[in-house]
This record gives sequence, C-alpha cells and structure tokens, in this order.
Amino acid sequence: MPFSFDVHEPAVYREPAPIDHDDPFQSMMERFDVAAEILELNPGFYEYLCRPSRIHITSVPVEMDSGRVKVFEGYRVIHNNVLGPSKGGIRYAPDVTLNEVKALAGWMTWKCALVDVPFGGAKGGIVCDPSEMSPKELERLTRRYTADLFDVFGPDKDIPAPDMNTNEQIMAWVLDTYSMHARRTENAVVTGKPVGLGGSRGRREATGRGVMTVTMAAMERLGLAPSDCTVAVQGFGNVGSTAAELLAAQGCTVVAVSDVTGGYYNEAGLDIKEMQTYVEQNGGTLDGYENAQPITNEELLTLDADVLVPAAKEDQIDREIAEETGARIIVEGANGPTLPEADEVLQDKGVLVIPDILANAGGVTVSYFEWVQDRQGFFWTEERVNRRLDRMMRDAFDKAYKTADEHDVSLRIGAYVMGIRKVAEALRMRGIYA
Ligand code: GLU
Repeated sequence: MPFSFDVHEPAVYREPAPIDHDDPFQSMMERFDVAAEILELNPGFYEYLCRPSRIHITSVPVEMDSGRVKVFEGYRVIHNNVLGPSKGGIRYAPDVTLNEVKALAGWMTWKCALVDVPFGGAKGGIVCDPSEMSPKELERLTRRYTADLFDVFGPDKDIPAPDMNTNEQIMAWVLDTYSMHARRTENAVVTGKPVGLGGSRGRREATGRGVMTVTMAAMERLGLAPSDCTVAVQGFGNVGSTAAELLAAQGCTVVAVSDVTGGYYNEAGLDIKEMQTYVEQNGGTLDGYENAQPITNEELLTLDADVLVPAAKEDQIDREIAEETGARIIVEGANGPTLPEADEVLQDKGVLVIPDILANAGGVTVSYFEWVQDRQGFFWTEERVNRRLDRMMRDAFDKAYKTADEHDVSLRIGAYVMGIRKVAEALRMRGIYA
C-alpha cells in the first residue's frame, strides 16, 4: 500500500486565521478542522480535502434588452468528486463571491457523503441581480453560462441544480443549451427541472420536506410533541415556506415567518397556506400581509419559539443572537446560517442544532432520485419519492446523532465527521493517482 489512512505524523493543520465574518469558506473550514482532528485525518488528505479540486471563472456577456452588452462574472467550483460526479446548485445574486461559492461547494461534498448519495460536491454562482433582469435577459445569461461550462457539466461529470434565485425554468434552459451542444437530449445533466422535462415529482418541496423530517426526529429525541411546539421560520422562499407548511401540517404552531420585507408574527399561529397564496398574488413577497404583527429579523431569531428554522442565507446567527434565542432546536434550512462563534454558545445552552449539511440535504437527495429516474427512463410516484426521502433523512439523522454521541461533540461536528470520514475512506481506497 503506497500510503495509509492511519499515518500518524504530527498533524499540521491550518494556522488559525483571524475570524472574518464575511467569509463562509472560513466558517466551513473551522468546523472541518475540528472534525479532521477527531478523525486524526492523514495530513496529506487534510491538505487535499480542504481545497476545491477545480475552480472555473467565466465572463458571461449578455445582450441586454436595451441592446447594450453587459458582462457578468460566473463561477463553478468543483470541490471534490471522489465519491462520484460533482453535484450542486447555481445561485444568482448581486453579492455572490467566489469564497462563498467555494464554501457552498465544500458543504455539498460533506452533505452528499453524509446522506449516502454517490456524488461529490460543487456549486455555481453568477454575480447578477435577477430582480432587475427581464426573463429574456435571464435566459440569455443562463444559456451563455451553460455554453461556457459545456465541458465542465455532464451527467457523469458535474450536475447543476437550483439554489438561491434559480428555479425550474432556469434548469430547463440549462438542459436545453447543454443538449443542443451535445446534439442529443441529455436530461440527467441537471436536476430540479420541470417534471415535464424529466424532473422528479417532489423535488421542489424536497428540501423543506427534509427539514420537517429531521425536525420531527429531533423532537422525538427530546421527547417533545409537535402539538406543543411553536416554530419560527426565517425566509419564505422555496425552503422556508415548504418547511413552515409541513411543520404546521404536523401539528406545530408556526408563530413567525419572514422574507425580504420583514418578519410576520402571530402568537396564535400563522395561516401558512394563506400566506403562500398571498405571496403568489402579490409579486412574490409578503409585503402588506395583514393577519400578523410586524417584527424585525432580529426579533424573529430571538423569539421564544421552540424551533427556529433559519432558511434564508449565511451568517445569520452570531454570538449575540445565540445568547438570546429561546429556541430548543435550530434546524438549518439555509447553508451556513450559524457562525462558528455561535456554535459553542448554543452547545452550552443545550440547544440542539441540526446542521445545514444534514437539515437541508433533502434537496440533493431528491436530485439524486431525479438523476436515477432520468438514467432509467422510469419515473416514480411522489409517494415513493417522499417515502425514500424520509427514510434517507431519518437514517442520516440517526447516524449523525450516534456519531456525535460517541465523540461527545455537537450534532454538527458529528455530521462533519461522518461526511469527511466517508470521503477520506473512498480516497484511501482509490489512492492518489500519480
Ligand atoms: N442547492 C441545493 C443545496 O444546497 C441542492 C443541490 C442539488 O440538488 O444538487 O443542497
């Protein structure tokens, strides 16, 4: 054997870097370091696994409706593909940075490994403001980005999906552009596409459904009945609104939700279905919704609700919020909503944090189902999708809980240990190609 997983050289981990709140990659690495030490990860593997394997940066020229050409910066980061083709969404936002995409790609690697989905991790992003762009401009942007990355994407290579501000329509354009270049329809190249193009039933709701499943599992562990629990959800996009709806359907009282227009609170419980309809009919936001009391983002995060679901974006729960929150369970629907500085506070307070790589893994799990269905040309019922999703989420939750228990660490670190161990073991079996 050329080298071993068990080499016990003195581990040389990273020099501790000054805390930078705006750097999600550092947030990810701080947790990675703790898990790597527990695993006594071979230092060479450490060095390899903490870096993305490839970074693509592309300048995407788009002819705007005005006739002017505007150039957008696009990224695709392949963090790792030891377990299989790399997988991860594409986000469109004005403040996307390469470091953020690197972190998100790394989280995808650990997430896929943790839930036993045979994919590596990747993420894409384009610096743009989709709210200021027409559908035609968004289509041209998506198609040119896909054409630029034609050699990177592929059903056996790298498979994109939706993420923040991207949706089924955008995935349909990715599919079409890729297929036109490939000279054949290649529906397994992208997931989260419309059902009529080979998308999976249940994919749109999958992340929110997974959030609900692990919340139920956590409540069982803590001996809490859903009907006795109040819930606050930050974010009312695809993940937040579905999670709120399904948690309410389980009997929880959803007392607060928020979106970009602010927080909405009702002590007696919000009518989530009514709020979803309101959003559909009012330009996509809750602005002006009347059956609730307005609250601030900070008030929502520090409410006395039993369950807090941050399902908006990164870096929302800092040390102060952690100190003040009344939640007993935090379920990270978003990627990276909790800063490392808050982890210890929450752990000391006995708050059970279901980490992002576990809590929001329902999306990529059903993406995997979608890819399997596309390749078989045989499509499952929604009931079958949901049943299998439920089983995989519960299984991952139980295993991460057990790992955390064994090492006497938080559920987050337990989840990282599981994900990293799986990738490191595959790497050891494959060896380093010279
Ligand atoms: N963007 C989602 C995530 O962060 C889904 C990725 C996928 O389905 O590939 O997990």
